[in-house]
Amino acid sequence: MGELDTAAVLVWMHAATAAVAAHEAELTALDTAIGDGDHGTNLRRGFAAASLAAEDAAAAGTDPGPFLIAVGGALISSVGGAAGPLYGTVLRTAGKALEGPTADTAALAVALGAGLDALRRLGGAEVGDKTMVDAFAPAVDALRAAGDLPLAEAARLAADAAEEGMRSTTPLRARKGRASYLGDRSIGHQDPGATSTALVFRALAESLTT
Ligand code: ADP
Ligand code: MG
Ligand code: MG
Repeated sequence: MGELDTAAVLVWMHAATAAVAAHEAELTALDTAIGDGDHGTNLRRGFAAASLAAEDAAAAGTDPGPFLIAVGGALISSVGGAAGPLYGTVLRTAGKALEGPTADTAALAVALGAGLDALRRLGGAEVGDKTMVDAFAPAVDALRAAGDLPLAEAARLAADAAEEGMRSTTPLRARKGRASYLGDRSIGHQDPGATSTALVFRALAESLTT
C-alpha cells in the first residue's frame, strides 16, 4: 500500500479500536499504578465511538482529512479523561493538514507532525515528561526520517519508535497529568498514554501490511 486513502484510514481506526479493546486491562492496570485507573475504559469507549464515526464518514465518501476531523471530534466528545481530548485534538489537527483523496508517507508525516504540535500546545508536555508525547514524538520523527519509503515500511519504523519511546517512560518522573501528583513515586512505571499511543501506531503498521 503506497498511499493512505479513506478505506485504509478506516481499516486503521478499526485496528486501533480492536487493539485498545484487547489491551484495556493492561492500560487500566498501568493507570491504576500512577493515575486513576480509567485509561483502558476511557480509550475503549473513545475508540468505539471513533470507529462508528469513521464508518459514517467512510460511507459518505469523505476524504481522509475531513474523515480524521470527524473521528477526532467523536473521541473528544466521548471521553471524559485527559487522553480523549488530547487524542481527539491530534486527529482533528492531522485531518486539517491532509488534502485530497490520498496521503503518502511525507503527507502523513506532515499531518501527524501538526497533530503532535497541537498535542504539545494543549497539554504542555515535552519529550521526557512521561506522557503520550514520549511515544508520539519519536514516531513522527521516524515518519519524517522515512522520507519516501513506502507507507507500510515507514509505519513499521514509526511503530518501532513509538514502542521504544513507550519503554523509555518507565524510569522517568512524571511532570504532566495525574501521574505528576506522585512525584518520585511515578518512577518505575510505564506511562499508560505512551502505551496506548504505541498501540495506535502498531495498529497503523499492521493495517497496512495485512
Ligand atoms: P486522566 O488522567 O484524566 O484519567 P487518562 O487516564 O485517560 O486520563 O489518560 C492518562 C494519560 O494521558 C497519561 O498516561 C498521559 O500519557 C496522558 N496525559 C495526561 N496529561 C497529559 C498532558 N498534559 N500532555 C500530554 N499527555 C498527557
Ligand atoms: Mg486516568
Ligand atoms: Mg480519569
